[in-house]
Amino acid sequence: MRGETPDLLIRGGRVIDPASNRDEVCDVLIQDGRIEYVGSGLGLPDGAAEISAEGLVVTPGFVDPHCHLRQPGYEYKETIATGTAAAAAGGFTTVCAMANTKPPVDTRTTLETVQEVASAEAAVHVYSLAAITMGLKGKQLVQMGELSEAGAVGFSDDGITLASPAVMRHALEYAKRFDRPVANHCEDPALTGDAAMNEGPVSMRLGLAATPVQAEEVIIARDLALAELTGGSYHALHVSAARSVDLIRGAKERGVNVTAEVTPHHLTLTDEIVAGRWEPIIASLRPYDPVTRVNPPLRSAEDVRALRDGLASGVIDCIGTDHAPHAGHEKHVEYAEAAPGISGLETAFGALMQLVHDGEISLPRLIERLTSGAGVYRLPHGSLAVGAAGDVVVLDPEREWVVDAAAFRSRGKNSPYHGLTFRGRVLKTICDGRVVFDLNEESVETVGALGV
Ligand SMILES: [Zn+2]
Repeated sequence: MRGETPDLLIRGGRVIDPASNRDEVCDVLIQDGRIEYVGSGLGLPDGAAEISAEGLVVTPGFVDPHCHLRQPGYEYKETIATGTAAAAAGGFTTVCAMANTKPPVDTRTTLETVQEVASAEAAVHVYSLAAITMGLKGKQLVQMGELSEAGAVGFSDDGITLASPAVMRHALEYAKRFDRPVANHCEDPALTGDAAMNEGPVSMRLGLAATPVQAEEVIIARDLALAELTGGSYHALHVSAARSVDLIRGAKERGVNVTAEVTPHHLTLTDEIVAGRWEPIIASLRPYDPVTRVNPPLRSAEDVRALRDGLASGVIDCIGTDHAPHAGHEKHVEYAEAAPGISGLETAFGALMQLVHDGEISLPRLIERLTSGAGVYRLPHGSLAVGAAGDVVVLDPEREWVVDAAAFRSRGKNSPYHGLTFRGRVLKTICDGRVVFDLNEESVETVGALGV
């Protein structure tokens, strides 16, 4: 589609590009779908469209290292088309899809099917992780060489914890040959059982089966030890507990090859919300509302504090949304029966801006964490470098808006933020030089809608 879209000059915004340490008011020119120039004093090239970004912030498109697009097999929850439309609305121009589809992405054929659908229907760049083990069963490793060659950017059985230490060791050794990270969902199934929430005073009060932070701690400790043993590259998915942050900090200090991500919900919500309590009180949330059920579960205020510190300091490398859309009938059930997960792509930036407004992290640092997921899987995205893909978002950090889950582009309306007012909004998302989301249009745009 390149060449068919007009060139774009994004004029006069505060351009924040953490990869090049840039934070200044200037212009961004996209030509033939690529970043051509970042700076000042450029006239409007012939045939180019101009977007005024005065008073707004212009950054690289966000990179989500962790989402669930559900296709193939669970199209009633989400498709590659609807999930990437949601990504575009959330400012994400690159997403990494997890392998726990039906069938899972454990063979070259399934991987290529996903890639074909993505190249025909996706609104943004889609990369795939492949499973670590055949059928996500935790026993036999997939053909990592073949899958790497076919485009798998990493390996994960996410949704399920890879429980066997021997299999994890071999996975790390094998994936290392292809310079691919192994990413684990860290909850020891023997400790977690059928738990529905975090173990602590709130679970005692509510009488729900609960899992302690130690279920995460023991898996992360083990995986870090095995990463150290093998020299393999390890990525800790959706870190949720203070003790995990301490472990990762220690491992990084020892030079272990580890990266880590945290979700917007683990940074902004505590287990008190399962009891329906939060500041400010959310009228639409009642106790035991299944929209708050997620794995790993929402933790204590102390954990949230440590995660925020870890994000600011860099112990935690990046934000991963763990966008996990589900159908209404999977959430409109008893708490313990509800499918775990939050539809998170469209609320990530608004939720995280709370940390900026509270002075806990600077806006440039937040943008860095929203783009550095590219580094985890060695993706050529997340910067405004000349020659890079023309992936740009235009943001208004002050714009207030009310979350309306019913209006999500995602098929998954499962959001604990529904009804909440956020300050900070994605206005425009540009991918490969095409406007794929424009708040003014209130719709996902396709080619030809530019310049209006
Ligand atoms: Zn997971």
